[in-house]
Amino acid sequence: MNPTGPSNFVRDIVIEDLKTNKYGGRVHTRFPPEPNGYLHIGHAKSINLNFGLAAEFGGKCNLRFDDTNPSKEETEYVESIIRDARWLGGNWEDRLFYASDYFDQLYAWAVQLIGKGKAYVCDLTADQVREYRGTLTEPGNESPWRNRSIEENLDLFERMRAGEFPDGSRTLRAKIDMASKNLNMRDPVMYRILHAEHHRTGDKWCIYPMYDFTHGQSDSIEGITHSVCTLEFEDHRPLYDWYIEELGIYHPQQIEFDRLNLTYTLLSKRKLLLLVQNGLVRGWDDPRMPTISGIRRRGYTPEAIRNFCNSIGVSKTNGSIELSMLEHFVRDDLNKSAARVMAVLRPLRVVVDNYPQGQVEQMEAVNNPEDSNAGTRQVPFSRVLYIERDDFREDPPKQFFRLAPGREVRLRYGYFIRSTGVVKDQQGEVVEVHCTYDPATRGGNAPDGRKVKSTIHWVSATDAMDAEVRLYDNLFTCEDPGQTEEGRDFTANLNPASLEVLTHCKLEPSLANAAEGGRYQFERLGYFCVDPDSAPGKLVFNRTVALRDAWAKIEKAGRGGHPPK
Ligand code: ATP
Ligand code: MG
Repeated sequence: MNPTGPSNFVRDIVIEDLKTNKYGGRVHTRFPPEPNGYLHIGHAKSINLNFGLAAEFGGKCNLRFDDTNPSKEETEYVESIIRDARWLGGNWEDRLFYASDYFDQLYAWAVQLIGKGKAYVCDLTADQVREYRGTLTEPGNESPWRNRSIEENLDLFERMRAGEFPDGSRTLRAKIDMASKNLNMRDPVMYRILHAEHHRTGDKWCIYPMYDFTHGQSDSIEGITHSVCTLEFEDHRPLYDWYIEELGIYHPQQIEFDRLNLTYTLLSKRKLLLLVQNGLVRGWDDPRMPTISGIRRRGYTPEAIRNFCNSIGVSKTNGSIELSMLEHFVRDDLNKSAARVMAVLRPLRVVVDNYPQGQVEQMEAVNNPEDSNAGTRQVPFSRVLYIERDDFREDPPKQFFRLAPGREVRLRYGYFIRSTGVVKDQQGEVVEVHCTYDPATRGGNAPDGRKVKSTIHWVSATDAMDAEVRLYDNLFTCEDPGQTEEGRDFTANLNPASLEVLTHCKLEPSLANAAEGGRYQFERLGYFCVDPDSAPGKLVFNRTVALRDAWAKIEKAGRGGHPPK
């Protein structure tokens, strides 16, 4: 036992059970996704908790597909879930299971419950079952089929399995209590008829067990000790326990924790699927999606996600976490690991008039000030450079300390330059800035001790590589995208400006060999990673997350004069 994990109430239960030897010293958890979509950041919380507990206490954690629902499941989802759970650090060794592997056993257990008089075949339609169920304030009514004989039930259930009846015509129900305060205990459906092909069992079955009749028994078969799930299953726990008790099988403990909700984000596979199907995003791995494959493509690291999950904790009440907190952990991790480079996203040409024509100097640049082993690289400097359009103002507002007519700034790893004039196009837009440099300031300091107020990044024009850069903003415009005006759905809250594509961005030449997935800090701009759309000579970058921008804050607050261009 290596008690190093973040403290939370689930972990406290595990520690207590180890103390009392409740499960003979075992800790065995599972992560049970339904393969009806791609995993999202909410699932990461569950993965982190389940695999984290197993790792911390020398236990095991299984990956189990909850694939009881034949119509929706697809192999693509199974494969993506395996890939994403592994990427997040999940290690299930050889314990990859499918609830569908237990269909024979579940059928035998259903027959056992019928034999005990604890389950019956019901001929009510789905609508009728709902009507008979009653409400939170009124008890339900018993089905007219509730008191069929055991023999008749066994015969009918067998014939349900044999395919004699059409979809929806009959169900198998547990015989519990139609007056229970808990609606889940009012004779819940155990099996329904569905003549549908299953991704693993093909057409072997035309009856499928419900989630509640599957989940606890699957936990039991696998010897799970702590069956950790989200709070909406709290009301299902009595049923979970009932099935296991009635079957007299090994009894795992279900424990519920709070679902992750994030501001400006929707965490529901069903809604995310809608975005994909309607082409509102580029796919499940669109970097704006909160899916694991989306945020991976965006450049998030598994470490950042784990640190985030550990810091948000686990509790018994649902709440909402700020998206900016997730971004904080991404920045925090990339700050340690990402190589610094210079890139100019919206280029403005700068001509250093007194710099010798044709001369190129190699300037030494630090790869990562946070990592002394990361070393340095050479960045070429020449007479024509690009700087960021935003870093020059012809008529600088107060508090704007970057390049402006007559003003001197430092070029990072380069020289001081002073602006002497501009060239404008017919529309009056500045297209070129002329400067002079001070050769004595090489490396960034003036021997006479004079100071400049600003250091800006740059790229040498002759050596620059062109790239496409994709900037992302929140996918939704409001904190709770699920909240909509009447008659509108969540897609009304989509942010029309969530993607901005910049072409002909200028990168320093060291990025020529940037590999897919490579993560960098573009100095002063943010963290960026190489998108799989890249091809040789045609790099595409995603902005993972921006650096905090103090200037943007000043301008936003209306204290900076002009709005940014
Ligand atoms: P969705 O509504 O997105 O489809 P789900 O709960 O139906 O979510 P499952 O595939 O059934 O998705 O979930 C697998 C596991 O992940 C379950 O144990 C579930 O409780 C957990 N989980 C799903 N969403 C979240 C979330 N937002 N926060 C924490 N855990 C989650
Ligand atoms: Mg589900």
